Amino acid sequence: MLTRDGARVATLANVNLLSEIQPILDLRADGIGLYRTEIAYLVRDALPGEDELTELYKNFLALARDIPVTVRTLDAGSDKFIDYLHTAREDNPALGLRSIRLTLRHPGILRGQLRALLRAAAGRRNVRLMFPMISSLDEFRAAKALCEECRAEIERETGLPCGLDTGMMVELPAAAELAPAFAREAAFFSIGTNDFIQHMLAVDRANVGVMDYFTPHAPAVLRALKRVADAAADAGIECSVCGEMGHDPRFIPFFLGIGIRALSVEVHSLPTVHRVVSRLTLAEARAYADALLGADTIAETQALLRDFTA
Ligand code: PEP
Ligand code: MG
Repeated sequence: MLTRDGARVATLANVNLLSEIQPILDLRADGIGLYRTEIAYLVRDALPGEDELTELYKNFLALARDIPVTVRTLDAGSDKFIDYLHTAREDNPALGLRSIRLTLRHPGILRGQLRALLRAAAGRRNVRLMFPMISSLDEFRAAKALCEECRAEIERETGLPCGLDTGMMVELPAAAELAPAFAREAAFFSIGTNDFIQHMLAVDRANVGVMDYFTPHAPAVLRALKRVADAAADAGIECSVCGEMGHDPRFIPFFLGIGIRALSVEVHSLPTVHRVVSRLTLAEARAYADALLGADTIAETQALLRDFTA
């Protein structure tokens, strides 16, 4: 997709269910920017085995044909509670043993998933892997090391090359703070704005009682997003957005203005993203982003927000 002045923006789709893939192809998305693999775990009542997952991922890749895909490893816990994985009751599940923490604590789970994905993707290009809820470089390195072990095993077993580019989700203030260091080791960033806002502002994304605190336009959020985009640009890696802010016509120009050139959205939002991107110029997007970044209060950014579909 091109902006009005000819800049290329990748419009990607988020996939929860395989049935969403054909509509994504029909709408000519440039790729799948987030495959939420936890759904397959959520709908089962026991941990799927490696062979079962390999079949599922082969189906997924066959349906996606040759468009680039980014697969996220299991992001279980909190709003994606899986009872057979979570036995201990936690007072603060959003801050608990979830996501990459859970799968590194029980590496057999991550190993089974990585081996299945590597087996399914062996010999294919255009498949990337990302880890969710990364909070430290140590954790990212541990996840990558496990992936590397699995890669070596699968190459030995199949005789096929099966390396995957490995990136990370930026969903935590700690990742934003350390973005330049992460950008030296990650193949790409994908910003999960749903969790990013939750953790930047300490506001539960699922609690309607504090919904008015869930403000994507909070200056702290916008400036942190800019720092992440800058760190990616400085390191020459792609930075996409896969959280819900990415389909909001008030924020698409902001993202383009801070240098982001890939947006991954739910399938039904692809037409909106296409419409907004095609109407914008980068000069307009940069001026809009600069104005938002110059404001210190939520009231000021709120007053500056414009719906670019109008
Ligand atoms: C996010 O947090 O923005 C994200 C894309 O991941 P999920 O919504 O699946 O937590
Ligand atoms: Mg998330």
